This record gives sequence, structure tokens and C-alpha cells, in this order.
Amino acid sequence: MPLYEYRCEQCQKQFEATQSVHARVEDTECPFCHAQQATRLLSSFSSKVVGDHKPTFTEMKANAMNNERMQKFAKLPPLNAKRNVPPPNTTSASDPAGSGS
Ligand SMILES: [Zn+2]
Repeated sequence: MPLYEYRCEQCQKQFEATQSVHARVEDTECPFCHAQQATRLLSSFSSKVVGDHKPTFTEMKANAMNNERMQKFAKLPPLNAKRNVPPPNTTSASDPAGSGS
């Protein structure tokens, strides 16, 4: 059975109660003042399960591999710096007109 956290609106105290999923908030009695004015808080446990999607091991591994790959790419020089070929208008050696017979 899940553990719920409540706060009593009457005495403002917080308490935990293990209840069935179908238990109603109105039926929850405060152990301190026995008022039935508790509001259910989202405990860290239930908010994690009900809330966002928990990544699986495979997803985490894929993520790690992706990050690794991205870091390797980041270390590479940019594409422009890799080319040692000067701009075409300053070279005459590779000019097809000069090398043709
Ligand atoms: Zn109370």
C-alpha cells in the first residue's frame, strides 16, 4: 500500500498515512487533533512515480553514448579549418587553363 503525506488544515501538522489507493482524503483523520481536514501532499515517492518519466537503463546508456560522441565532435576543429586549400582566386597552380596542352 502506498504511503501518503498529509497536512492537517486544522492544526497544520504533517503526518504520513499508509492507505489504499482508493482511500479518500476526507476520510483521513489527523492523528494529532483527529480532524478530518487533511490535504494530501505529494510525497517525493509518489511524485516521482506518478510524475515524470523515469529513464530506463538503455536510455541512460544511449544518452551517455550521445554525450560522448558530442564531446568528441566538439574536440575536432571546424570543417573550414581542416582544409588547407587556399581560396581558388589566389592560386594559379591548379588553374586548368595553365596546365592544359
Ligand atoms: Zn490536525
